[in-house]
Amino acid sequence: MKITKIISHVLRYDMPEVLGYSQQYYDQRTAHLVEVQTDQGITGWGECFGPGNVAISNKSIVETVIQPIILGLDPVDRDVIWHKVYNLLRDHGQGGMPLQALSGVDIALWDIAGKLADLPLHKLLGGAHRTSVPCYGYGMMLRDEPVADLAARFEEEAARIKDIGFSATKMKTGFGPKSDVQLCEAVRRGVGDEYRFMVDANHAYTTSDAFYVGRALEELDAYWFEEPVAPEDLDGYAELRRGLTVNIVGGEAVFNRWNWRILLERRGLDIAQPEVCALGGISEYTRVLALCHAHFTPVVNHVWGSAIAVATNLHLLAAMPDLPGSLHPWEPMLEFDTTDNRFRDELLTAPLNIQLQVKNNAGRVSIPEGPGIGVEPDRDFINRFRIDA
Ligand code: CA
Repeated sequence: MKITKIISHVLRYDMPEVLGYSQQYYDQRTAHLVEVQTDQGITGWGECFGPGNVAISNKSIVETVIQPIILGLDPVDRDVIWHKVYNLLRDHGQGGMPLQALSGVDIALWDIAGKLADLPLHKLLGGAHRTSVPCYGYGMMLRDEPVADLAARFEEEAARIKDIGFSATKMKTGFGPKSDVQLCEAVRRGVGDEYRFMVDANHAYTTSDAFYVGRALEELDAYWFEEPVAPEDLDGYAELRRGLTVNIVGGEAVFNRWNWRILLERRGLDIAQPEVCALGGISEYTRVLALCHAHFTPVVNHVWGSAIAVATNLHLLAAMPDLPGSLHPWEPMLEFDTTDNRFRDELLTAPLNIQLQVKNNAGRVSIPEGPGIGVEPDRDFINRFRIDA
């Protein structure tokens, strides 16, 4: 079998409302899907992390840099292809956009391998350790409004996410430590004393501010504190983890096995969040997962993007061994964005219906069973939202 063509589809629509996180507000939703075609009629689908103009730029890396390197190669040889591309791009970036671009291609190659073998991705990876996973719903995005108003909104939104049936929830912070603690208190009020909630700072704090917020999170019994400081600040992560009891988590902006090795060796994470659509695809994710488990660091995948990313992650979560293993083992969770995302809810010919599953199945989502990633994108839908045709 040979790779005959690689197409990037960048999709975009205007969001019904402006939302934000600690780094910026945004009013458009973007998705970057990668389609790998072969001479035997099997097509694979993947996805690259990266919104807005990053997606448009990554498209050119996929189509004009990576495609010429791998045209004519056997798509089943995904590890050979991964290293061929990585070694040639190493001098031009060992992380960031080249790795995001490679991730989408690699995921599509695994989709092809699964379709060729007529096996779902989790079977190719060694089988399912679980047939469903709990799903946490994140929301409580920032809005450009007074903190008191936002706190009232967060309290209500958190209660709503809990009522839908999600097994936990997650909020954003980003107005500075004192205001942010008020927002966290509002979310705790909204969900009550027993429910699990997490806090995502998107690396907005200095280490001392992160300690201030982290101590408040301990008082509020928050489950985790995500990206408290910049991903480059490995010492900051390690100091926070030693000094706080709340779980310190991160890793969505960490690329490839070598950077993950350094992060894990510094002992800065209680829970790791690898992003398969950014760190180098499924091939590299399996190596990063092994590294995390070798350091006895549990993993909850970072999930962002369209139904392709969600389905891919469901297989990865199924194929993740228990750490350390027990009668009632620690479970990973599926990350799910509760805000408007048509590229997740309407992209597939047979939708995943995550929200419905959560509602009807006590917060749990089942693992797709079709060959490869097990989903089929609707080409009419893609053509309606494509901005790069
Ligand atoms: Ca995050």
